[in-house]
Amino acid sequence: MHHSLAALDRQLRLLGCKLIVRSGPSLAELEEIIKTSNATSVYWNDLYEPATRERDSHVQSALQEQGIEVLRYNGSLLFQPGRIQTNDDKPYTVFTPFWRKALTQLHLQPPGPAPKAIPSVTGLRSLPLEALQLLPAIPWDRDFYSVWTPGEYGGHEQLTRFIEECISSYQVSRDRPDQQGTSRVSPHLHFGELSPQQIVWAANQAAIAAPGADSGVEVFVREIGWREFAHHLLFHFPHTAERPLRQAFEHFPWKQGDGDDFQAWCRGNTGIPLVDAGMRELWNTGWMHNRVRMITASFLTKNQLISWRAGAAWFWDTLVDADLASNTLGWQWTAGCGADAAPFFRIFNPVSQGERFDPAEAYIRKWCPELAALPSGAGHAPWKFAAKTSVTGSFTLGVDYPQPVADLSQSRRDALEAWQKIRG
Ligand code: FAD
Repeated sequence: MHHSLAALDRQLRLLGCKLIVRSGPSLAELEEIIKTSNATSVYWNDLYEPATRERDSHVQSALQEQGIEVLRYNGSLLFQPGRIQTNDDKPYTVFTPFWRKALTQLHLQPPGPAPKAIPSVTGLRSLPLEALQLLPAIPWDRDFYSVWTPGEYGGHEQLTRFIEECISSYQVSRDRPDQQGTSRVSPHLHFGELSPQQIVWAANQAAIAAPGADSGVEVFVREIGWREFAHHLLFHFPHTAERPLRQAFEHFPWKQGDGDDFQAWCRGNTGIPLVDAGMRELWNTGWMHNRVRMITASFLTKNQLISWRAGAAWFWDTLVDADLASNTLGWQWTAGCGADAAPFFRIFNPVSQGERFDPAEAYIRKWCPELAALPSGAGHAPWKFAAKTSVTGSFTLGVDYPQPVADLSQSRRDALEAWQKIRG
């Protein structure tokens, strides 16, 4: 957020004004700005998270009572929450019918031109950006900047690269963590540097320009649909940020995530290479591939039986695209306790997933270089190799790389047993 705000400030300065940074209760700060600038109207784009909605409706009524005009718009979603409802006017809790209905109401327009200049207002007090203390206290983000360019230009560059190089094969390459097959626009969407309208418009233009890109574009736009679904769910079921949508899971005997097993997961030291690679990618870049997010989340909630809330909190602290709606949906979907969730008994096997989606072991070997001494084909399950081979060369399981924190088959059985208990 710090770097995104700095980029926004740089862009505003090119247009003749600057970002005003304030800290304090929103209403009081706004009132002071309105007074100093003699403003008669306030415009904003809505955000739909529970705490933001509460704050904004309070600010709106207070300003309107003072005779200030308030104009609110939807810039962060394709559809305002509440617009896509079932025929009985209820919120959808299953994605496919939600998206089918949404597509009938999708009216795309080319993005409007950016303003050429914005007049500046003099006399407004502003804090330096650093005063917001958004930078991490420890420099754990030092490697992020070779991967990310915060700001609107960075977002557009990322989108253009994806559309030119990847969108036509997205339906296949999106599942491969060893390839750059996805757009990586998620942080730019989260911080409002790209809008879903812009993205879907650009993707559709790609389909018109190259008809062979149709399937890739359709699958990609559907993923933007999942983001919409996540935001609509959080709007209608705000308690799900804290509690499972499916009530039966309130009684699931998950552990809280205060032990060494949780630390092993956070640090990428579980001894399961695909899980460790994902958790290390997250720590080093602030992002993790979607398939690997599902696998690491499944491992935590099902093989380690640790609460999805502990995992969601770690993702919240470490993802550059951390987003309350998408994170909640992703975790509850994987844990089996949310809307349209994968059935609980569908437990991802990180070994077979790795063999299928990282067949040359490029992804795991990139993030777990300790596996280098293992022969090709042994990387996804080093414990099997160590058990079979008496001479393991320079690789010793438990010394060079951790022993697995969970036996995949036994922990799967334990998870299913726990689930049987709450099923009734
Ligand atoms: P692409 O594959 O290029 O997709 C384009 C866009 O579609 C994404 O940027 C995103 O906005 C949206 N999208 C794609 N998949 C999903 C999905 N499953 N749910 C919602 N939106 C989706 N996404 C976040 O933006 N923030 C989060 O905090 C977040 N937490 C997650 C936690 C878990 C456990 C899981 C399983 C998924 C989570 N996701 C989250 C969804 C998804 O993993 C990311 O949006 C995606 O990996 C971002 O990379 P990308 O931009 O290259 O995606």
